[in-house]
Amino acid sequence: NQSEEKLVEYMDELEFLALTAGATIDKRFVQKLTQADSKTFIGSGKAQEIKEYVKEHGIGTVIFDDELSPSQLKNLEREMEVKILDRTNLILDIFAQRAQTSYARTQVELAQYQYLLPRLTRMWTHLERQKGGIGMRGPGETEIETDRRIIRDRISLLKEKLKTIDKQMATQRQNRGKMVRVALVGYTNVGKSTLMNAISKSDVFAENKLFATLDTTVRKVVIGNLPFLLTDTVGFIRKLPTQLVESFKSTLDEVREADLLIHVVDISHESFEDHINSVNQTLMEINAHQKPMIMVFNKIDAFAYEKKDEDDLTPETRKNISLDEWMKTWMSKSQYPTVFISALNKENFPEMKKLIYDEVLKIHTARFPYND
Ligand code: GDP
Repeated sequence: NQSEEKLVEYMDELEFLALTAGATIDKRFVQKLTQADSKTFIGSGKAQEIKEYVKEHGIGTVIFDDELSPSQLKNLEREMEVKILDRTNLILDIFAQRAQTSYARTQVELAQYQYLLPRLTRMWTHLERQKGGIGMRGPGETEIETDRRIIRDRISLLKEKLKTIDKQMATQRQNRGKMVRVALVGYTNVGKSTLMNAISKSDVFAENKLFATLDTTVRKVVIGNLPFLLTDTVGFIRKLPTQLVESFKSTLDEVREADLLIHVVDISHESFEDHINSVNQTLMEINAHQKPMIMVFNKIDAFAYEKKDEDDLTPETRKNISLDEWMKTWMSKSQYPTVFISALNKENFPEMKKLIYDEVLKIHTARFPYND
């Protein structure tokens, strides 16, 4: 069943995120609801079931795959008596761990405070409970207000700081002159950094975890005497917290200001089509969807499929479609130049380089029509 498969994939991804954040996973719970419960997100029976499990097994944290509203979070923590994380909080935590430059750290801090602000009440009641406060003698409204004000001030300060850095970065981008700019885009963990390293012979941090890349890296690359700038960008992900979309504006500026996009796809991943859609969605949101683009399907070395039996009449599933067959599907009709590679083994690199060369040359020629 299609939706069951999707569900498993979403949970796999959430588990991968949680592992990246440093958690160990004990158990998964799913519930099918036509609509999320406005008070507790999940139904009360399910909440009870999880609560009992958590108690019995001494679980420290329950993670939800969606963003919970401030009140849902509060209600769930009160009901299940355990620390609750939602998808947004989890992703913010990973970004916080991995931010390397002061720019990235500032962006993450801003996103975290924006996430925190509407959830402050919860924090305080908790703190109060830890201190042994009883029932309604929770924190005084004034305390919450003071704290809100401090956070609001901090938010404006961080925004100012980012504005200054944004300006510096814009100037830097301008100073790069008229060289053609190419940006690697793609879902997280598809191999962008690996490809960047392979093409530019540089040493960008690549790791089999989500969001190894937080900061953009720019490298000058030359293919067949044609120089251009190549940028590695932050990985896109399904349901990226809105706070992050906003605060990573400048990272995405690299994409917005690029002349050419190289959209990297992990074809060995079962949901690669979903990934493509979610990247395209983000490109649309930042108004970068009409740029020239090259589709690079990566990890062909890891592409696995179960061969069909000659007289097997069961319907085709994703698993028994071979790479060759895939290439004849919508891929062959793609409006974009397309290439299938392995960044790891440098397979089909000459073809890929040729495609990049051709596209860069087109842009270059349009920009400098009188040079030959
Ligand atoms: P990014 O998040 O898109 O920058 O992805 P990375 O470059 O960090 O790569 C994520 C993981 O995929 C790493 O473990 C890489 O070694 C692995 N990877 C990258 N390219 C390939 C490939 O062509 N084949 C295989 N099998 N693995 C790859």
